[in-house]
Amino acid sequence: PSILYFDQVNDQMRALLKRLKPEGFELWFWHDLDEDERNARLPQADYLMAATYPLDQHILAKATQAKLVQKTGVGVDNIDLPKATELALPIANTPGANAPAVAELTILLILALYRKLPVLHQSMKEGKWLMWEFRSSSYEMQGKTHGLIGFGQIGQETAKRSRAFGTQIIYYDKFRAPAEVEEQLDARFVSLEELLQTADIVSLHIPLLPETRGLINAKTLQLMKKSAVLINVSRGGVVHEQALYHALKDGVIAGAGIDVWESEPVHADHPLLQLENVIASPHIGAGTIDTLKRVLATAFNNIQAAENE
Ligand code: NAD
Repeated sequence: PSILYFDQVNDQMRALLKRLKPEGFELWFWHDLDEDERNARLPQADYLMAATYPLDQHILAKATQAKLVQKTGVGVDNIDLPKATELALPIANTPGANAPAVAELTILLILALYRKLPVLHQSMKEGKWLMWEFRSSSYEMQGKTHGLIGFGQIGQETAKRSRAFGTQIIYYDKFRAPAEVEEQLDARFVSLEELLQTADIVSLHIPLLPETRGLINAKTLQLMKKSAVLINVSRGGVVHEQALYHALKDGVIAGAGIDVWESEPVHADHPLLQLENVIASPHIGAGTIDTLKRVLATAFNNIQAAENE
């Protein structure tokens, strides 16, 4: 059987994919193929595997032999779900496998914003010693209220880590977490409005769905504290970027840490990248080697199980 892998890979990823793939499977890399080869391989592939590559209706329709679409990650918003449903093509993901990595990035972005790390690092490289200029201008997580929007695998892993820094945890989710989870994390379930009004740190951990698109917009940003920071490690579309730009520029909120963008890749002239109170990363939330190993192990297990059925 064959697996067609759609995303770009670096050398390390390619080696790991080849090493971890189940025995007896062929592995084809979409980015190694030219147009003709792609057209030839697509209808022959037994399994489609993708992280963020858009598996649109045209690709899915041509994959006539595919038995399963395996997402290496959680958010399946890059896959045309109505088309997959029409084709009766099952989709699997790898729940929880990337939660530690995204949770750690969330904490990193909060601390980097609070302590202004990028500008200090850059100033050192430019030969400046800004000890006095920047002294007492930063903040601690300790004692702050951290509001998490979305309290699934990543939200809870983030809360666990944030609490260790001495924050109070409040969360909003479509579904309330079990009482023992709330107790363990000392987390209080609140309305979206209360969360936005009271949190010093707001972090996003919900999937991109029609109902969550633009959830953070001019109106909801206005509810937030002037001193609050927003961390988006979920999906770009959850935030209305233009509204966020104005909120950051006009002092409606204090700062933002952004890993995911409305349209990726993002270019240097993106308005948000012009602001001093923004820290940016290029959708690397799940991008650790530790996560890749866990994600691939789960993904290849799913494929092997489907093949054994
Ligand atoms: P999860 O399914 O465990 O948790 C998602 C939570 O969101 C659930 O508790 C769910 O009830 C809640 N939710 C869904 N719709 C909602 C709504 N309309 N309003 C309020 N809450 C709602 O998923 P997860 O593993 O925690 O991942 C969350 C998201 O993070 C993914 O969907 C993905 O988009 C994103 N993600 C980003 C990266 C990255 O690299 N930055 C990596 C992995 C995942």
